[in-house]
Amino acid sequence: MINYTDNKHFSLFNKQEKHQHIVANTSYRERISKLNALQRAVEVTYREKIQDALHKDLKRPIVESDLVAVYLVVKEIKHVKAHLRQWFKKQPVDSQFTLLGTTSWYIYEPKGVCLIISPWNYPINLALSPLVAAIAAGNTVILKPSEIASHCSKVIAEIINSVFTENEVAVIEGGVETAQELLKLPFNHIFFTGSIEVGKIVMSAAAKHLTSVTLELGGKSPVIIDVSANLKLTAKAIAWIKHFNNGQTCIAPDYVFVHESIKNEFIRLYKMALLEFYTEDASKSSTYGRLINEKQYNRLIGYLEDARTHNAHFEVEGPTNASDLFIGPTVITNLPEESLLLQEEIFGPILPIKTYNEIDEVIEYLKSKPKPLALYIYAKRRRIINYIIKHTKAGTTGINNNGLQFSNHNLPFGGSNTSGIGKAHGFYSFQEFSNQRGILKRYAIGPIRLLYPPYTNFKALL
Ligand code: NAD
Repeated sequence: MINYTDNKHFSLFNKQEKHQHIVANTSYRERISKLNALQRAVEVTYREKIQDALHKDLKRPIVESDLVAVYLVVKEIKHVKAHLRQWFKKQPVDSQFTLLGTTSWYIYEPKGVCLIISPWNYPINLALSPLVAAIAAGNTVILKPSEIASHCSKVIAEIINSVFTENEVAVIEGGVETAQELLKLPFNHIFFTGSIEVGKIVMSAAAKHLTSVTLELGGKSPVIIDVSANLKLTAKAIAWIKHFNNGQTCIAPDYVFVHESIKNEFIRLYKMALLEFYTEDASKSSTYGRLINEKQYNRLIGYLEDARTHNAHFEVEGPTNASDLFIGPTVITNLPEESLLLQEEIFGPILPIKTYNEIDEVIEYLKSKPKPLALYIYAKRRRIINYIIKHTKAGTTGINNNGLQFSNHNLPFGGSNTSGIGKAHGFYSFQEFSNQRGILKRYAIGPIRLLYPPYTNFKALL
C-alpha cells in the first residue's frame, strides 16, 4: 500500500475522493446548473479578464481570444447541456437468444477523481473544455493549468474558485514539479494536453496506478495541395491558420506538400494573402500575435539558422525582434530532410514548402513519419481526396480547410499513437471521463440453466 500522506496535494485529493460519491450522484439538472454557472463566468463575468490575460501572455487579438477561449468553450457547454439528459439514461443493448429472460444495458458512470493538465498555447480553452466534460460526467477534478501562460493560469483559478468548491473542482497552479507531484497520486483518469515528450511522462506515471489517460498531443501536421485545388482559397486558408495565435496551434499546418507545377503560383498567392492579412509590416498589425516567451523565440531562431546553414531558399524572410518576441511570416523552400524545420514540430509562423510530382511520393513520405494530429488536403478531385485518405493515417483531417475540424463538437478530436490517445469534444470527451458500466439483469429462468453442471455432450454443443 503506498502512503501518500507526504504528498503536498494529498489532502486535497483525499477531500475530493471523499466528496466524489456526492458529485457522482448529482442529477443531470444539478450538473447543468454547474455548467450554467461556468458558462456565465466565461461568457460574461470574466470575459474581459480572459481577453486581457490572453493579450498579456500571447498578445492575442480580441477576435482570436473570443473565438477560442469564449465562443468555443461556451459552444461546448451548450452542446453538453443539450445532450446530457440523453447521456444520463440507461443505454439498452440487444441480447442474443441464449440470454432469453435477461435484459442488458450500460450506463455512463463517472470515473472518479480526475486530473486535467493543460498547455500554454490555448490556455483557457484547453483547460476549460475538458473540464466541461468532466463535470458533465460527474467527476471531481484537480486542474493544473500551464505555468507558462501565467496570466491565464491566474484567471482560470479565479473562475474555478468563483464557481466550485475545492472538493468539486480545484485549480493547482504551478510548473513541472507541481505536475510531477500530482502525477504521483492515484487519480481515476488523467486528461493531458501538451507535448509528445511530456505525454510519455504522464502515461508512465499513470501506469503505476493503472489510471486511464486521454493524451492530446502534437507533432507535425502536413498539408497536401493537389493540382485541382482552388489555389486562392488554399493560400488564404493556410496563411490564416498558420498565423492564428502566431502559429502556436497543435493543428496548425506545419509544412506544405504542393504539386511542383503549381508551386510558384501557390507561393505568389500565399504572399498576397500575407500582405492582405498583416500588411507589409506584420509587427505593426494588430491581428498578428507574438510568441509566448524567449525560449520559444530562440528555438525558432535556431531552426531558421539551421535552414540557412543548409542553403535553404527563403521565399519570404520575416524580420525578427527578440525584445518583442516577434518573427514575421516566413516561407522556406529547398530544405533538406535533415533540417530542423522538417524534423521538429514548428509551432510558429514559419512555413516550409516541399514539392512532389506523383501523389505516391507524398504517401510514401508520410508513411515513414509518425501519424499526425491533423492531415490537410486541398483538392477538387474526389478521387485524389479519397486516395489520400485511404493510404494515410491521421488523428483528424481537414479537406479544403485547416483547423475547422476542431470546431465541430460532433466530430471526435484527437490524435493517434504519438499524436494522442483517446478523443475529445462533445460526447467523446464525456466518454473519456466516464466508465461504460455494462449491466445484465436476469428475470426469468431462461435457457441459461441448460448450462448448469453436470456438463453433458449436448451442453458442449450449445
Ligand atoms: P508541455 O508538454 O511542455 O506542457 C503541458 C503541461 O505539462 C503544462 O501544464 C506543464 O506544466 C506540464 N509539464 C511540462 N513538463 C512536464 C514534466 N516533465 N512532467 C510533468 N508535467 C509537465 O506542452 P506545452 O509546451 O505547454 O504545449 C505545446 C505542445 O502541446 C505542442 O506539442 C502542441 O502540439 C501540444 N498541444 C496539443 C493539443 C491537442 O489538442 N492535441 C493542443 C494544444 C497543444
